[in-house]
Amino acid sequence: MSTITHWIAGEAVVGESERRAPVFDPATGQQQAEVLLASATDVEAAVAAASQAFESWSQTSLSRRSRILFSFRELLSQNADELAALITSEHGKVLSDALGEVQRGQEVIEFACGIPALLKGEYSDQVSTSVDVFSYREPLGVVAGITPFNFPAMVPMWMFPVAIACGNTFVLKPSERDPSASLLIADLWKRAGLPDGVFNVVQGDKEAVDAILDSPDIAAVSFVGSTPIAKYIHERASASGKRVQALGGAKNHAVVPSDADPEFVSDHLAAAAFGSAGERCMAISAAVLVGDAGDRVLEAVSRKAREVRVGAGSDTGSDMGPVVTKAAQQRILGLVDRGEEQGAKVVVDGRGLGVDGYPEGFWVGPTVLDGVTTEMDVYREEIFGPVLSVVRVESLDEAIALVNSNPYGNGTAIFTSNGAAARRFQRGVHVGMIGVNVPVPVPMAYYSFGGWKASLFGDKHVHGPEGVSFYTRAKVVTTRWESTGTAQASFAFPTST
Ligand code: NAD
Repeated sequence: MSTITHWIAGEAVVGESERRAPVFDPATGQQQAEVLLASATDVEAAVAAASQAFESWSQTSLSRRSRILFSFRELLSQNADELAALITSEHGKVLSDALGEVQRGQEVIEFACGIPALLKGEYSDQVSTSVDVFSYREPLGVVAGITPFNFPAMVPMWMFPVAIACGNTFVLKPSERDPSASLLIADLWKRAGLPDGVFNVVQGDKEAVDAILDSPDIAAVSFVGSTPIAKYIHERASASGKRVQALGGAKNHAVVPSDADPEFVSDHLAAAAFGSAGERCMAISAAVLVGDAGDRVLEAVSRKAREVRVGAGSDTGSDMGPVVTKAAQQRILGLVDRGEEQGAKVVVDGRGLGVDGYPEGFWVGPTVLDGVTTEMDVYREEIFGPVLSVVRVESLDEAIALVNSNPYGNGTAIFTSNGAAARRFQRGVHVGMIGVNVPVPVPMAYYSFGGWKASLFGDKHVHGPEGVSFYTRAKVVTTRWESTGTAQASFAFPTST
């Protein structure tokens, strides 16, 4: 049984903790490795390496940082297939989907390659006689990322390319359910020429997370995961004086007015609800069907749900793989049972699905529930599985009110050919990321990603311009180099002359 280690100061490290967790292959249901679970002492070792590396990395020229990022980008691109295969073996998602997440992560690196332009400061000449002002941004120090299981490569890459490009050093605590991608990424950084200690990985669970949150030597924490943990991270890291961005869970609605084309809508709804077995924070989990759109769209999306080919992620014939763990499978199946008990109609039933050759796999088939109401658990809870809940409403305004009454505000979409309806929706919803005929509107790397309400604690979204802002702080410098002329010292508060 292989052991998945930490990565500290440029090498694989076992550390002192003897705690371990199993890592499964979700398609076979078998344990394939064990991962170390760091103690507070192991986290301290990573933070010490990062603190030491910060001394020189923060002083490294922008050109050299940028060149290392370009090399890392090339190596990632050359090793994308290997990384995708690792993701599939531990997460379960299909290979094309794993490659997609590597590509979207790579785009953040490409954004960060432009760091010399992104960190250009401001300059004002002669703000007062013989006085000039300029501002620029400096890195924070050691920063940490704590990431979820569902994107073991992309979500860490939302964070560390920008943090490192800005001159910070980084400690990543990936999900203990699919930890291997982080070690391949660490090796690629080393081969790209990144100095040891700039990028570190500590494997672990709550014990490692708490050590990060309490460490006096970590300046900022980026977190992505479920809402209760995001809230906890935000409170505890803020209490120890850190800058924090903590992205939480989601319940994303797709609103379908009656003018929408049922075939187009159902193709996109099926992909957005069942892609990656629904384990995406931007998955569509509620279809809000307006008026007489309802029956036509329900019929079409149910047909498409039944056509989804469920199988091992490594099989190129599969559209959708298993869910990540047995516990996730049991939780999702339990929620579907509760939905039925509470009055939802199970139109497509993914419970009891078997896949030939994989009797122990963590399977849940695509499931469509009709007649879902806002009181039901299937609507109130984030299911994070391949389950689409259909909610019926009478008008677009009712749909907008429904979206806004939900505690989450990550993503949402509308399907329509009516520009006025799309505009009313876009302006009316209290949600951070909105798609018009685009059901999974994940912003490009040069915009910033983030939700509203219970989907984000903290003010800054990740990557893009807000990522640069999060990982740096400003200095404003006021200068006078000429001692002659009008410059008179005064006991009055300084004003311009
Ligand atoms: P999770 O909250 O269980 O775990 C996230 C991280 O927190 C992991 O590294 C985990 O080890 C750690 N953690 C778990 N329990 C902890 C505890 N009690 N104390 C301290 N740390 C703890 O989330 P997950 O199941 O890995 O991922 C799925 C969730 O992430 C979903 O809710 C999904 O919506 C969310 N997510 C959100 C976004 C977004 O951008 N908003 C993106 C991806 C995933």
